Amino acid sequence: MALFPRCLLRGVSSQIRNLNVMPSSPKFMYESARCSSNTSGVRERTLIAVKPDGVHRRLIGQIIQRFEKRGFQLVGLKMLRVSEELLSQHYSSLCKKAFYPSLLHYMTSGPVVAMVWEGHNVVRSSRMLVGDTNPAEAPSGTIRGDFSIHISRNVIHASDSVDGAQKEIALWFQNSELMEWKCCDHDNLYQF
Ligand code: UDP
Ligand code: MG
Repeated sequence: MALFPRCLLRGVSSQIRNLNVMPSSPKFMYESARCSSNTSGVRERTLIAVKPDGVHRRLIGQIIQRFEKRGFQLVGLKMLRVSEELLSQHYSSLCKKAFYPSLLHYMTSGPVVAMVWEGHNVVRSSRMLVGDTNPAEAPSGTIRGDFSIHISRNVIHASDSVDGAQKEIALWFQNSELMEWKCCDHDNLYQF
């Protein structure tokens, strides 16, 4: 008898299980209805930035990999030195905080890698991937929980709301710097 690798057999058996869910079955109809109402956020976008400490520590690749592995799509990417003017708009709500001058100093201390990522619920999911602002509160497995120990050197920025993300993307990127493209697995990911 021919021997098949175990992983191939597992793949076949899961396909056979899927065949039990026929298009007319109640389970299939429930799944289609539930998921099709969730597709509105597919084009949601967020601003992610690897801060100067993350760039210096050569964490750019590992950070990008976490967003790719999760299934999000990169639509903008650039390396830049951020001006104080841009930062004063980006962090306008924090300008009265005691830590604001040191935040400006930190964010202008070296290059930053700014990105725009797209996908279903990307704003909320990114905040989960990134972890709490204070790395001491960020669980292991999150970017801040794995790569940082102090709130003033927390490696990465992620927009905290859909509205905020739109404003931040418009501040950091020109429209011409954003790529409209469809990833080859897009339909597989989003045709629920
Ligand atoms: N920050 C700081 N000290 C603080 C609070 C914040 O240095 O006590 C810095 C930190 O780099 C943080 C950034 O200010 O990421 C923006 O603060 P925010 O509350 O918006 O946190 P985030 O959205 O980045 O998690
Ligand atoms: Mg914030």
